[in-house]
Amino acid sequence: MSVTSGAESAEPLEVWIDQDLCTGDGICVQYAPEVFELDIDGLAYVKDGDDELRQEPGAAVPVPLTILQDVVDSAKECPGECIHVRRVSDRVEVFGPEAD
Ligand code: SF4
Repeated sequence: MSVTSGAESAEPLEVWIDQDLCTGDGICVQYAPEVFELDIDGLAYVKDGDDELRQEPGAAVPVPLTILQDVVDSAKECPGECIHVRRVSDRVEVFGPEAD
């Protein structure tokens, strides 16, 4: 299975953050403020199109194709290695610490 297929196809992807590992540096928010936000607890959370932070553990939101590269870059740069991008269809991680 090609791990790059997620970026090259229009396959729907979603992203979630493991807050247990988040350092709160905010790099993800700089890359993709459309889906990431720091809450007052100093940790990053994902948010959906309605701008509501999803704070339940493991909550995932869709990755809009228009910002896919920003989200992928976030996952690569995340010092906590806690940003996970996976296919919606089979939940296989395509970018993040569990990809490859
Ligand atoms: S880049 Fe990673 S460690 Fe930094 S705030 Fe975002 S999720 Fe947390």
